[in-house]
Parts: sequence; structure tokens; C-alpha cells
Amino acid sequence: MQTHEIRRRFLDHFVKAGHVEVPSASLILDDPNLLFVNAGMVQFKPYFLGQQTPPYPRATSVQKCVRTGDIEEVGKTTRHNTFFQMAGNFSFGDYFKEGAITFAWELITKSQEEGGYGFDPERIWVTAYEQDPEAAEIWRRVAGIPDERIQFRDGKDNYWDMGVPGPGGPCSEIYYDRGPQYGKEGGPIVDEDRYLEIWNLVFMQDERGELSPKLGNPPVGVLPKKNIDTGMGVERVALLLQGVDNVYETDLVRPVIEKAEELSGSRYHVGSDENDVRFRVIADHARTAAMLIADGVNPSNEGRGYVLRRLLRRIVRSARLLGATQPVMAEFMSVVSTMMSPSYPDLATDFERIERVAVGEEAAFLRTLDTGSRLFELAATEARTAGKTTLAGSEAFALHDTYGFPIDLTLEMASEAGLSVDEEGFRTLMAEQRQRAKADAHSRKQAHADQSVYKELLDTHPTEFTGYTELNSEARVL
Ligand code: ATP
Ligand code: MG
Ligand code: MG
Ligand code: MG
Repeated sequence: MQTHEIRRRFLDHFVKAGHVEVPSASLILDDPNLLFVNAGMVQFKPYFLGQQTPPYPRATSVQKCVRTGDIEEVGKTTRHNTFFQMAGNFSFGDYFKEGAITFAWELITKSQEEGGYGFDPERIWVTAYEQDPEAAEIWRRVAGIPDERIQFRDGKDNYWDMGVPGPGGPCSEIYYDRGPQYGKEGGPIVDEDRYLEIWNLVFMQDERGELSPKLGNPPVGVLPKKNIDTGMGVERVALLLQGVDNVYETDLVRPVIEKAEELSGSRYHVGSDENDVRFRVIADHARTAAMLIADGVNPSNEGRGYVLRRLLRRIVRSARLLGATQPVMAEFMSVVSTMMSPSYPDLATDFERIERVAVGEEAAFLRTLDTGSRLFELAATEARTAGKTTLAGSEAFALHDTYGFPIDLTLEMASEAGLSVDEEGFRTLMAEQRQRAKADAHSRKQAHADQSVYKELLDTHPTEFTGYTELNSEARVL
């Protein structure tokens, strides 16, 4: 089943059950705590917080989401995109646990002929919050799930709140057992690769105080109106229904991998594992970049623009490492537009601008790579002439700091030149620079290497935002 069809069926299922279909919000909302929209509930926050009266008691949407915190996982796990589509159903003081579980169960187990996804009920596992026996009871009664396939988790995994006093509540997640070839037996608490999380149901019932029930503290009260917030990963359902190995091989992402094969001369699944990761990174990031540009982000050295810049540069870098010698961006953007525009028409109508922004960044980065490569050669020759086998940390730092030349590239070129790099020295200089940037509010805004923007992020969804622990996390990924 194609991804567009999976989306359509989700919305139809919930519209039939009295939900109003609400379009996806932009990835960029005016919320100082959030870099990008990362969950379906974000646009409904004022309703959940009681700040606005919802114009309908039930809603459904397929929300565009970007999770920068998952960037390290991309291409390495089978299930993490930086951009993905979260399908959700929401109840504002209307139905509660039993309704949410029943609706979800119907959609996933109803046969495909009847409009559902047709998953084998025997392969479904669920988790519940350890202090929420009611959810488990409903799963048994409504869905007939036996105790062996219901697992309990503590508040860190299965309790949701916004990190501040306000609404909170237990979660219950739905997993699909992909079979023994994907990992260890024993359910999601043992192996989240084999047991793929597809859907998270949040039961907002508590009033959380200063201390979060996540950490074992009791809630301070009960919400006067209980709400439902759910999120189903469209790409993950697509992975399962298309019988492919991972989210990067689903119908809307895979074509970019094929384009990358054509442009680089390397083949997916033929070379090294590292190369396969690069293919998946390209496919994932090309889509995210196009979606971000469509929503008005431009590459820059701070905030959202810096995330976009990193994504675009990683695409260029990965393509080069795969063997591409010519610009690649225009072609990747064109494939993404073809795949995504049936659901997101802007990608076609605004294509010229999207392409121009992406290609402009590629051109600038290719110039950086060229200048950096020349400077690298100079430094390498100097080191060799002086009889050294190591490139100083300060050289690597200067390449990075002045020319935006990624450290991983320095490492790789050094190794080709038979040199090692004083990485320790490089890291010390990076750390010192970070300290300086912190101390100086002005330089914080200007510094090329600044990452404070990521620290400002407060992820409001169940997943914790891990942020970039180190600016050049790309060094480890590429
Ligand atoms: P995981 O534990 O696999 O990282 P999560 O618990 O962080 O997922 P939720 O915050 O519960 O995910 O989001 C709701 C649903 O959105 C998930 O059940 C999953 O289907 C989907 N989802 C979450 N993160 C991603 C991602 N990076 N790429 C694709 N789908 C995702
Ligand atoms: Mg999870
Ligand atoms: Mg989850
Ligand atoms: Mg996660």
C-alpha cells in the first residue's frame, strides 16, 4: 500500500467516526520553545491547555514533523526519519481511553479490502504505563490482546507531559512484531528493532504539578476535561505494508536513493555498510530539506536555518563520498518534488524557489570544500616537510572555524595523505570556542560554530530532545 493511501485511509477512518479533518500546520509555528513542529498535537496545544475553546470535539490530521533530535539515528536504525508524517486523532474532552484504543485497533486490524491496514492481530504488542491498569484492561477486553503481549513501562517511557505544570497522562504504544530475523524475542521492552513502534496513544487525564509523574511523583489533580492525543508514524506503517526493510526504502523516499546511485556510480546494498548509510542519509535529508524550504526556512548560521544548512551540506558530502563529482542537489529536489507533491502541492507550485535555495547552498558548500581542500594540502605538505606524521589540532580547527570545513573530511583526507590528526587538540579548541561563545552573547549570535539554538529547544512531546551534544556530530555520522 502506497504512503498516500495510508494517509488517506487514516483520515477517512477518523472522519467516518465523527472527526473533523484538519490540514497539517506548517513545520514552523510561532512557538519560541519549538524549532520545528514535531508532533501532531502541537497545533492543538491551546485547546489542550484550555487557552482556547476547540471548535470541534474531535479532530484528525496528518502533521508534517521534523525531529532534529533523531538526526544521529538516520540511516542507522530502520525507523528514524528527520522528516516524517504523523497521523493523529484528537479528542477534546470527548471520548477517552476506550474510544482511542477501539479506533486504533479497528484501523490496524480491519482488512485492506474493508479500508483498514490488515495487520495480523497476533503480531501486535502494546505497552501501558505501569500505573495504568485500566489501559491494559481495555486492550484485553476490546482487542483481545493476551497478557503476554501487554507490557508495562515506567513513567520515563510511558508518561507524557509538557515538562511544566499542566496536562499530563499515561501513554500506551502499539508495536508490530517484524519477526525473529529482526531481533530478539520478548516484546518491545527487549527489542525495539524487531518490535516496531507504530502508534502512540496519550491519555491526558492528570494535572501535573512542579514535579513530574514521569519521575514517580503523584499528579496534583485530575483534569476537568480528559483529552486524547495520538500519533501514528505513516512512514513506519508504510515500511510494514510495503514489506521493505526500513523507512528509507518506502515509496516516497526510495526514489532519491535510486537517483543517488545514478549520480554517484555507487550501488545501494552492494558496497560497504557505510555507503548504505550515506544513501539513506541523502534520501532522508533531501526530503526534509525540501519540506523545510517549502515552509520558508533559508540556510543560515543560526536557528532553523542552520539545521537546514547542515542537512543540505550532509547531502552534498555524502554524495561526494559515494563518488559523485558533479552537483547533485537539483536532481534530488526534483525527485522529492515528484514524490511528495501529491500530498504537498507547494512542492510543485513553489519548486523553482525550493530548487534555487537548495542549489545555492550546494554551490556555496562546494566552494568551501574546494578552498578547504587547497588549504588542507598546504598544511599537509608543511607537516610532511617538517617530518611530522600528525596534523596539528590547530590546523584542523582553523579549517573548520574559518572555512567551515568539516572535521570528518579533514580526518579522511589526512588518512589518505598518510597523516593522523591531533583530534584531542581539535576538540579542546572546539570546547574553548564554545566556552567563549557562551560567555559572549554577541558572539553567540554570530559564531559560525554556535549551537546554542539547539539547547533552547524544548521538545514538548514524549520523546526527549537529545539535541546535538556536540556540534560536529556530523563528523561521527558521515
Ligand atoms: P521511537 O521510540 O521509535 O523513537 P517515539 O516514541 O520517539 O519513537 P513518539 O514521540 O511516540 O515516537 O511519536 C509517535 C509516533 O511517530 C511513533 O509511534 C512513530 O510511529 C512515529 N515516529 C516518531 N519518531 C519518528 C521518526 N523519527 N521517523 C519516523 N516516524 C517517527
Ligand atoms: Mg518510543
Ligand atoms: Mg512513542
Ligand atoms: Mg524517538
